[in-house]
Amino acid sequence: MKVHLPDGTELELEDGATGLDCARAIGERLAKVTAAIEVDGEVRDLRLPLPDGAKVKILRVGDEEALPILRHSTAHVLAEATRHVFPGVKISIGPAIDNGFYYDFEFPEQIGEADLRRIEDEMRRILKQKHAFTRETTDRDTIRQRFVDEDEAYKVELIDDLPADEPLTVYTQDDFSDLCRGPHLQDTAPIKAFKLTHVAGAYWRGDSTRTMLTRVYGTAFFTQEDLDQHLHNIEEAQKRDHRRLGKELDLFSFNDVSPGAPFWHPKGMIVWNTLVDMWRKENSERGYQEVKTPILYASDLWKTSGHWDKFRENMYLLEIEERAFGMKPMNCPAHCMIFKSDRRSYRELPLRMNEVGLVHRHEPSGTLHGLMRVRHITQDDAHLFVTTEQIEEEVQNVLGFALDLYELFAMHFKIELSTRPEVRVGDDAIWDKAEEALHRVLQARGIEYRVNEGDGAFYGPKIDIHLTDSLGRSWQCGTVQLDFNLPERFELTYTGADDHDHRPVMIHRALLGSFERFIGILIEHYGGAFPLWLAPVQAVVLPISDRHILAAEMARDALHSAGLRVQIDARGESIGKRIAEAETQKVPAMLVIGDREAEAGAVAVRRHGRIDLGTLPLDSVIDTLVTERDSRATTPTH
Ligand SMILES: [Zn+2]
Ligand SMILES: [Zn+2]
Repeated sequence: MKVHLPDGTELELEDGATGLDCARAIGERLAKVTAAIEVDGEVRDLRLPLPDGAKVKILRVGDEEALPILRHSTAHVLAEATRHVFPGVKISIGPAIDNGFYYDFEFPEQIGEADLRRIEDEMRRILKQKHAFTRETTDRDTIRQRFVDEDEAYKVELIDDLPADEPLTVYTQDDFSDLCRGPHLQDTAPIKAFKLTHVAGAYWRGDSTRTMLTRVYGTAFFTQEDLDQHLHNIEEAQKRDHRRLGKELDLFSFNDVSPGAPFWHPKGMIVWNTLVDMWRKENSERGYQEVKTPILYASDLWKTSGHWDKFRENMYLLEIEERAFGMKPMNCPAHCMIFKSDRRSYRELPLRMNEVGLVHRHEPSGTLHGLMRVRHITQDDAHLFVTTEQIEEEVQNVLGFALDLYELFAMHFKIELSTRPEVRVGDDAIWDKAEEALHRVLQARGIEYRVNEGDGAFYGPKIDIHLTDSLGRSWQCGTVQLDFNLPERFELTYTGADDHDHRPVMIHRALLGSFERFIGILIEHYGGAFPLWLAPVQAVVLPISDRHILAAEMARDALHSAGLRVQIDARGESIGKRIAEAETQKVPAMLVIGDREAEAGAVAVRRHGRIDLGTLPLDSVIDTLVTERDSRATTPTH
């Protein structure tokens, strides 16, 4: 038999060869560090025989794709250790999850933090010896009996619920065996950097009428550095949680009278407006024209657009004068109405409309999460109506726009291109042109991107942009989506140079995603310490004592005249306390005035983060702050 390696070469193997045999055929050294094997895109256990003609890729210990296997293998060791420490504990299931793993147990007694450390110690003791993970396929009765003898009722229930013809596999390390599909590592040697993080209650099989089990959460990495970084990031993320900072900095609040819809406070509104103003200006400079469209539409519109059939469950519907209406979940049909409001000529294309588009989408209450997941969504939306020939240049411009914006926030990004699915609308000729154009645009910019074959929408290919924040977390924000469908449904046409009617192509485009979510991301990205141009209060003037208040007021007025958002804090508190408070409020600049400064027309400058710049003339400080604001600098200029 043969398999195909990632570099395109073929490898001849004996019939029935396993993933591990394949690794050995490439090299003994590789075989030693093999964690699993990808077979035709699916990660599989290296002990399984390979199908003839498969495309294979060896996953090594240390590869990111092998992390779930490391984590799940660690969960087995956790279960073994827990049994040693708590005889009589009942085991159930223990999968890998994003960033870690868990295992659900029924403990004979309540456990706490100290118990997690005891279990960890036992795991370390077990891991001192290298134990192989062995895999056996067993007949049902034998394995069932084994769990009956061990009094593991949850495992027995799982077996009884599996289809009778499903082969059962058991993985064993040391004295512990678990019913499991795998895949698993070859042995326990790569399990070194792990930590049990917390416990939570979890109903058996997620069913609230069943027993409440104890879920022990943990995480594991291939190196101690990666684990340390991860634990540090978790701690930082908690400190930076936008819901917590939103309250501390008085930016916004939520109230159960309107779930999933933020109430913006004055300071939050400054951030909002500053962001929107910047966005408007950038759109206008790139030839977009701003529009504003209604929130509420008769159901006819949604029937034409297709939302009535496909998206109604997520829409808020109501009846007015016996006519069915729906609140818009997207702005596109409204922009089609504007396009259709007049005869259009090819000379008007590309026609680019942007809107601070307020849409509503139903999200179940349980999934709402601060600003990150809301029902009231203000999209930084735009639609471009273009000819097929204009697709490439317009997508290129949109992408350039996106990258300029992300650079402004010093955010890295990852790009994915999704291509035609099996079921689709539009001629293959247009799909060919559009997909080629998207590839060319990305390649021309030298951007690395992933292709998701067949993952595009039925109405057109798209580019998704994921931003990475300062804690390394990824957020899907931008999307550039070609659409051959809506122009068809709404019968949009323009008159071509040949005097005939033609269909435009529509490009949907959002770069920040929604203003709500993007501000949430920014708060966490900056830990609440906005760069000067976005900060609700840009400077605070602090007179040391009452006799400096007059000078402080003059300084404030001068800053205010320069258009800076400035406050004065002349309360009777000590200067140290007032500085500490301004630090907590993350005000970018603190300007202190005492005798020396008052006399010299100067201020002692402190920047957020305890950066002392010494005493400087007020005029030059104002110049510096204004330049920093106008250049939308990410870090303070000194
Ligand atoms: Zn397992
Ligand atoms: Zn759209």
